[in-house]
Amino acid sequence: MLVLFDIDGTLLHTQGAGRESTRDAMIEVFGTCSTIESHKFGGKTDWYTLIELLTPHGITPQQIADRMSHYDQVVGRHLERIIAGRSAAPLPGALEAVQTLRSRPDVVLGIVTGNCISTAKIKLRAAGFDPAWFAIGAYGSEAIERDHLTPIALQRAMDYSRRHFHPDQTVVIGDTVADIQCGRVIGARVIAVATGHNTRDELIAAQPDHLLEDLTTLLKVL
Ligand SMILES: [Mg+2]
Repeated sequence: MLVLFDIDGTLLHTQGAGRESTRDAMIEVFGTCSTIESHKFGGKTDWYTLIELLTPHGITPQQIADRMSHYDQVVGRHLERIIAGRSAAPLPGALEAVQTLRSRPDVVLGIVTGNCISTAKIKLRAAGFDPAWFAIGAYGSEAIERDHLTPIALQRAMDYSRRHFHPDQTVVIGDTVADIQCGRVIGARVIAVATGHNTRDELIAAQPDHLLEDLTTLLKVL
């Protein structure tokens, strides 16, 4: 079985450190942080967020694409500094569920997140997860649309494990409607968790296979 986890609102929370590091990195790389203070991140890739916030300031999608790898490094540097003063923490049941699953030889763990490569790993470490527990990942600095990340993650998992994962052997777990949609793209079973961005009603409307209050009951539905 391949189990793909979202990060923010699913495995952990960072007490606003993500928004602050995005603001500081946008100012450093692009010269403006636009309307970052009121931006709704939930489910979006960081690349999508930059396009949404910066194109009204005359910065083109191509200019953003050209600077994504540099931005990824810069936002990581800012997050390292900012997160040190915050109490980033795992959400209920998340650490226990991941630790149990990583001990199972039939399970490959992966990450599908809107975070940049740098910030995904920093957030995981800050909340007590070792990024090495997740064999593969697909990140928000690699594609504009979240729907493009799950096929990347699936291919990487198959390359890594030299196994083929059928849709019913693949699970996507996340806190937003966008997580549910990106799981459907690869035909995966989708588990929504109500510890993050979207409300229970919003998640129900998107018809996940399961809706959990938090990850304390994850192992019962896998
Ligand atoms: Mg999330």
